[in-house]
Amino acid sequence: MKNYFLTIILCLLHIGIMAQTDESKPYAPYKGPIIDVHLHAFHADANGPPPLPFCVPISTMIQHFDPKDIWMDVVMKASENPDCEGLLWSPETDEELIKQTVEQLHKYNITAVLSGEVDFLPDWLEAAPDRFIPSLKFSLPADEMPVDSLETIIRANDIQVLGEIGNQYHGIAPNDSRMDKYWELAVKLDIPVAVHLGSGPPGAPYLGFPNYRVKFSNPLQLEEVLNKYPRLRMSVMHYGEPFIDEMIAMMYSYPQLYVDLGGIMWTYPKAYFYEYHLKKMVLAGYGKRIMFGSDSMNWPGLIGKSIDIINEAPFLSLAQKEDIFYNNAARFLRLEIKK
Ligand SMILES: [Zn+2]
Repeated sequence: MKNYFLTIILCLLHIGIMAQTDESKPYAPYKGPIIDVHLHAFHADANGPPPLPFCVPISTMIQHFDPKDIWMDVVMKASENPDCEGLLWSPETDEELIKQTVEQLHKYNITAVLSGEVDFLPDWLEAAPDRFIPSLKFSLPADEMPVDSLETIIRANDIQVLGEIGNQYHGIAPNDSRMDKYWELAVKLDIPVAVHLGSGPPGAPYLGFPNYRVKFSNPLQLEEVLNKYPRLRMSVMHYGEPFIDEMIAMMYSYPQLYVDLGGIMWTYPKAYFYEYHLKKMVLAGYGKRIMFGSDSMNWPGLIGKSIDIINEAPFLSLAQKEDIFYNNAARFLRLEIKK
């Protein structure tokens, strides 16, 4: 009896020690190949004259603002004396930006969906042909063109994805009927579309995007599009943040809909991103439709940072990380799974 009692105590102690050990165990990082579905082929000066500093998370960079000042000036001033941990600087030339980005892709074994203008994509593709999946950046009203012209561009340049579709920056709603002919084309060519829904830079309407509207982040506005084009393969870039409940409702009713994390892991403090965005979508059951995206533009260092934030999420299993980093995008893009 005494021994039996002792065994129970020892077992409990052992369980206690195991639980303690598990909690103190570092997270298990995913180390396999990665698909980054949200990478930009920008020019080095796309966000202003380089070199430009970048601090993350950006939501806390400037925490209050008096409208007697000019927002653009306040942002510029803040970037003159950057003070943050892990400060990133943008490369000064296009060549250096491409080189440093490709270095990151090799380092982390990444294949990236590269969104860019048709004239500039080749400069990037040539630097690492096996690392890129070409994607055509598209925004109304600037890119409005006859549908057969767009078809010619897509075919001639082996475009695999239509995106990033940045209509929100120009005050155009996700369900604007001017997109109908392009949705039809995407269905006809069977290429996926990737639509920006979510926050832009902080204070976007005062930072060069006067027509940007927050209300067009709401994924509910895609409902008529998905009803009308049920065969359209669509990814919501930035998962329509912060409209998480609406996004979950849309994923429930439109099971073909995928999302990408598009840089939001470094937009907000990571505790908030984990708890109220990523964890919520995973707990709702959509871990098979969330894709990794760094939203790297002018700072290649964001790629590794984005990977680390997902890897450090304490609630994700290794298998869930593998889905987010690779499997979900491979399925969405209908790639041959070669790992
Ligand atoms: Zn975007």
